[in-house]
Amino acid sequence: MTDFDIIILGAGAAGLMAGIEAGRRGRRVLVVDHAKNPGEKIRISGGGRCNFTNINATHVLGRERFLSSNPRFALSALSRFTPDMFIERVKKRGIAFHEKTLGQLFCDGPATQIVSMLIDELRQAGAAIWTGRSVGSVEKDRRGF
Ligand SMILES: Cc1cc2nc3c(=O)[nH]c(=O)nc-3n(C[C@H](O)[C@H](O)[C@H](O)COP(=O)(O)OP(=O)(O)OC[C@H]3O[C@@H](n4cnc5c(N)ncnc54)[C@H](O)[C@@H]3O)c2cc1C
Repeated sequence: MTDFDIIILGAGAAGLMAGIEAGRRGRRVLVVDHAKNPGEKIRISGGGRCNFTNINATHVLGRERFLSSNPRFALSALSRFTPDMFIERVKKRGIAFHEKTLGQLFCDGPATQIVSMLIDELRQAGAAIWTGRSVGSVEKDRRGF
């Protein structure tokens, strides 16, 4: 059994992004998913074209846009990870996209391009990914989880 600093349960959008960031910071990361393929929800998102960001989803536009008991959470997160930062990654990867309405950006081609980009970035960050492995429970012992 290998030791990891971080084990992320779920290789969806959240798990893949978290794995990439942690791997880039030098952590030994494992992402586990019970599905055969990671990012399945991304694949079907935006009618198969993935509405991957909205150029108006920035902290500058004000808290009234973020419906939450704590809008500051979204504003704080979005000030540190802006739509432009993700758009740069999409452009670098050569994924073509277009604006639909009200700042929504969709891929011209299939959403699987975004899934492949995230999986490649995860691997480049040195993280491991195990698919087809269901997590039944998590326990803590003296060494860790
Ligand atoms: C039809 C549809 C269209 C959408 N369109 C868009 C869009 O265009 N733009 C947009 O921004 N959002 C869209 N969304 C929403 C977006 O897809 C989700 O908000 C996002 O994918 C959620 O990511 P997540 O990582 O939080 O969760 P998930 O993608 O649900 O990831 C959770 C992962 O955990 C795994 N898992 C669960 N239990 C276990 C277990 N016990 N053991 C191991 N693995 C487990 C699952 O297999 C899954 O891969 C859409 C959603 C749907 C359903």
